[in-house]
Amino acid sequence: MQPFIYNALPSRVIFGFGTLAQVAEEIRALGCSRALVLTTPHQRASGEALVAKLGELAVGLYDNATMHTPVEVTRDALGVVKSSGADCVVALGGGSTIGLGKAIALNTDLPQIVIPTTYAGSEATPIIGQTENGLKTTQRTLKVLPEVIIYDVDLTLTLPAQMTVTSGMNAIAHAVEALYSKDANPLISMLAEQGIAAIGRALPRIQLDPQDKEARSDALFGAWACGVCLGAVGMSIHHKLCHTLGGSFDLPHAETHTVVLPHATAYNADAAPEAMARIARALGVDNAAQGLFDLAASNGAPTRLADIGMEEVDLARAVEIACSSPYWNPRPIEPVAIRKLLENAFNGNRP
Ligand code: NAD
Repeated sequence: MQPFIYNALPSRVIFGFGTLAQVAEEIRALGCSRALVLTTPHQRASGEALVAKLGELAVGLYDNATMHTPVEVTRDALGVVKSSGADCVVALGGGSTIGLGKAIALNTDLPQIVIPTTYAGSEATPIIGQTENGLKTTQRTLKVLPEVIIYDVDLTLTLPAQMTVTSGMNAIAHAVEALYSKDANPLISMLAEQGIAAIGRALPRIQLDPQDKEARSDALFGAWACGVCLGAVGMSIHHKLCHTLGGSFDLPHAETHTVVLPHATAYNADAAPEAMARIARALGVDNAAQGLFDLAASNGAPTRLADIGMEEVDLARAVEIACSSPYWNPRPIEPVAIRKLLENAFNGNRP
């Protein structure tokens, strides 16, 4: 066994079907009685239903959560927190809604109950990314780690087919990079392999039947496992590239992860053979990078940056940004090879 250091994060996780019914109990257990429910415009009806269900425990609904946590939206929401006298937030939605809850916690220290409805994994991390003047910055602080996570598999049944695959690949990306992280440790690596396997098994079954509750349950469990990986250990080239493409070129989050992941994995293949073997074993394939590409492609996900909003002329700038600040990666960051990686992702070449 290699030496390692592991920092466990405090969290309370409730996982099951119909667990939305437990939100009121969890608000009271936190010693709170005035919850502000957060969601997106798209999930307004679910937010309203939750407010109605909470009755006098809810002080209102803020339904303008936005991708990449723009600071203007946070300011607006903080105004509502203040005027409503909220003593906790309940975030119902994907990474965007959870990001808003974290931003509120960062500013107010209010406790958070989060109810994730995608597989992005933000709920399990002490990480917050915020956007101001078109620039996305990320920080790690325990202040934003949600106190309670309630996973209700029933809420994921409505996640559209394509979002299911891309969000699932987004989750797998956390586990892939955890396996070759510089602070990898045996516990997190075990969870990473489990997470990849659970989502890898679930995605084809969900494509066949989006209402398959067992497959949805596997996918959500996998999302938690992969989210814990993201929260526990440092990420590398893949997350750096996706951060660059999302933050500077406004590419959509989960789709970008889906397209880039097989190529980032191929980039690190020779430098991280043990991680590759574990990814391949989790997917039941011979080659990790190809297995990831095939999982996405065979389930209808986009495979080309060209198809999700990237302009070829911006590739050079993306390479420049991604190589501008030093960070750890199993294989050194080589601009020519990174350019090739992005070209492959741009064209959707199988690695
Ligand atoms: P999202 O939260 O933006 O959701 C996308 C759309 O799907 C929204 O309109 C949402 O309302 C809708 N939706 C969500 N769940 C649904 C469901 N079950 N049924 C129907 N519609 C549903 O997308 P995302 O990919 O979950 O989150 C992306 C954001 O999360 C980005 O801003 C990213 O930076 C952030 N993120 C942060 C971390 C972290 O640790 N800080 C980790 C992962 C992602």
